[in-house]
Amino acid sequence: MTEETRTRIPIKEDFFTVPSSPQVPPKFLGTRCKECDEYFFPRRAICAKCNSQNTVDVEMSSRGTLYSYTFVHIPMFGSSAEEHKEGYGVGQVDLPEGPRLQMPLAGKQADFRVGLTVQAELSTLRRDDAGNDVVTVHFRPVEEKP
Ligand SMILES: [Zn+2]
Repeated sequence: MTEETRTRIPIKEDFFTVPSSPQVPPKFLGTRCKECDEYFFPRRAICAKCNSQNTVDVEMSSRGTLYSYTFVHIPMFGSSAEEHKEGYGVGQVDLPEGPRLQMPLAGKQADFRVGLTVQAELSTLRRDDAGNDVVTVHFRPVEEKP
């Protein structure tokens, strides 16, 4: 199988979409409260702000703002990706809908700074026994146009 035809499966269900095209970024699977308009990630049945059960599942943005980050100087557990061998960043990313997500970051430590626009993308952690790519999400800094 080629890179393009291998099936990508999420490391965990119900957290993000896995679009069929590698060019399409994943979306985060969240919940919106129809009473107070608060958004949540991960999904929940009852609003944590107003306790309403009048909630709906939504797909949220794949782009956000880096609120804070750190860099872990050990290889990422469970990953065979070359870029994870030297360590990896972990960021807190604010989505425009409101939730703050804690996710791995793609790139080197010097690439990150607070306030950066970051884009979610799928990252292959490993190949499973059936030949599928097991994917997770990380955020990558977006090139800012001057
Ligand atoms: Zn609510």
